[in-house]
Amino acid sequence: MKTLISKEDMLDYLKNKRDNTKIQYIVFDIDDTIMDTAERKKIIYNRLKKMYDLPTISSEEFEKAYNIAQILVKYNFQEDEILKINQKFVKLFLSNKYILKDRPFPGIKDIINELLKMNYYIIYLTGRTINLRKKTIKSFKMNEIPIQKPNIDLVMKKDNDCPDLTFKLEYIKNFREKENIVCFIDNDSETCNELKRILNSNLIIKFYSTQKDNLIYNGPYISKWT
Ligand SMILES: [Mg+2]
Repeated sequence: MKTLISKEDMLDYLKNKRDNTKIQYIVFDIDDTIMDTAERKKIIYNRLKKMYDLPTISSEEFEKAYNIAQILVKYNFQEDEILKINQKFVKLFLSNKYILKDRPFPGIKDIINELLKMNYYIIYLTGRTINLRKKTIKSFKMNEIPIQKPNIDLVMKKDNDCPDLTFKLEYIKNFREKENIVCFIDNDSETCNELKRILNSNLIIKFYSTQKDNLIYNGPYISKWT
């Protein structure tokens, strides 16, 4: 069932689930789960705006949009044009150039610290590719999000050939201690739905930020980290 839970509910649940006789994992997505990418999107959009004569859009639209195509489709752009602009947008979005513009969602830093205190092992499982590793670490450090510790892994894609969802599913499917993944958190409904099939007894939480299509995840969701 689709249920809104609070960060307190989540932390209470995880406290109860902690078994100190074994290593237990919590998996976090990065983009739009830990890091708010709205500013990055906005900067790139403004860069393309001049090139393609794009409309002025509000910050709110950026916060809700999953990608640029979702915005442009509302402004009567031709499909092939949207495709072209979106490709350009995605290329810049997935590059090193603007990644340091991301800011973490308020409260997430404290939650991760809390989970580390409970002795959980944290895995950041992201669709970002390994060429963004250095900047990703820099960005985490800049924003005081725990990273580069013995009980934290940063798992990234080799390249952009593989879709994020496939990459994440394969990683979890092949994860040796699947049963010790206590919680998986992602902002993408489809990812949450697919993960639920693999990790049926574990807690899958959707972080409610940007939305792809109109997909619904029928499970617990969190709307803020504070
Ligand atoms: Mg995400």
